[in-house]
Amino acid sequence: MKKIPLSRVFLSEEVRQAALRALESGSYILTKECEAFEAELADYTGTKHAVLCSSWTAGVFLLHHAMGVKPGDEVLVPSHTAFPSIEPMIHRGAKPVFIDIDKTYCLDVDLIEAAITSRTVGILPVHLYGHPANLDRVLEIARKHHLWVLEDCAQAQGARFNGRRVGSMGDAGAFSFFPSKNLTVLGDGGCITTDDAALADKLRMLRNHGRKTKYVHELVGYNFRFNEIQAAIGRVGLRKIDMLNEHRRKVAARYTERLSEVVRTPPEKAWAYAVYHMYVIRTERRDALANYLQGKGIATGIHYPVPNHHQPAITKMYSDLPALPQTEAVVKEILSLPIYGELALEDVDYVCDSILEFFGEQ
Ligand SMILES: *Cc1c(COP(=O)(O)O)cnc(C)c1O
Repeated sequence: MKKIPLSRVFLSEEVRQAALRALESGSYILTKECEAFEAELADYTGTKHAVLCSSWTAGVFLLHHAMGVKPGDEVLVPSHTAFPSIEPMIHRGAKPVFIDIDKTYCLDVDLIEAAITSRTVGILPVHLYGHPANLDRVLEIARKHHLWVLEDCAQAQGARFNGRRVGSMGDAGAFSFFPSKNLTVLGDGGCITTDDAALADKLRMLRNHGRKTKYVHELVGYNFRFNEIQAAIGRVGLRKIDMLNEHRRKVAARYTERLSEVVRTPPEKAWAYAVYHMYVIRTERRDALANYLQGKGIATGIHYPVPNHHQPAITKMYSDLPALPQTEAVVKEILSLPIYGELALEDVDYVCDSILEFFGEQ
């Protein structure tokens, strides 16, 4: 029987050679490979700076610290996202104010303004599943109300909004290199992109014990640094990411073409160059379909079954959580199908055949 995983990392001879080269270099933390990776990430994203950190979560924690996020502040964020999207702000004492989503599974921009209060300091749009949120509207609202915008690009490396890369339009962007993401370093890692030189400078100090030079600490910082071996791996991945994303788009197009009669397939807005970190369908028979596919050797996932405003960690903290009808409806019906940069189209056809079979269409 075939075995089709939900995702698979990109691993080539070139990646192995790059890791070995870094291993033998005698230098392991924040030197040559990291500096080159940061320059290449900034160039790729179209920002002046990219600051590597040990994960998305670590980078955003430093960013909230550097931006002065403090107790009592409110940040507008979709509930339908990975839990880490909201962890750093909570550690800073700020409150996530949850916004419902639209048909693209990203935050519904028509609901943002009603949620703004005198305590609101920023908006954290998530480019979920690799589809860019409606940044034009987000940025317009943010400008009008003097809010910062942090783009959560963890699932959207290489995605574009009206031709511009995500992570280059808000005050900052945050990326993850966790193994399941479109660009990985085969371990944990992340980066913050920004055009703000003072902010980048502060992040670089905070991630490395608050110092610029070895023995002088200007701030009380942390150790959220990045490693040379992983930077060397990431640099190879970055040279392949456009090709791998193009292939993800081919896979997505095939799924959409073959499945749109039997399930709800994901929309792609006119502004979007989506990179399909996930290919997510909707069906009322989600659990039965997932079981059926498992029997065919096809892995599926649910991203995410419990929305963040229903997570136990959150419900015990706040008594005024909103009802989010779209979010609460989709979490019961969404199913992520296998997708990655090297998934064979014949395997995609096998998944499609199996789904059509389940619905009695074949
Ligand atoms: C993976 C992910 C994160 C967290 O990234 P880490 O590098 O694991 O900290 C944050 N937001 C979203 C949307 C993610 O998918």
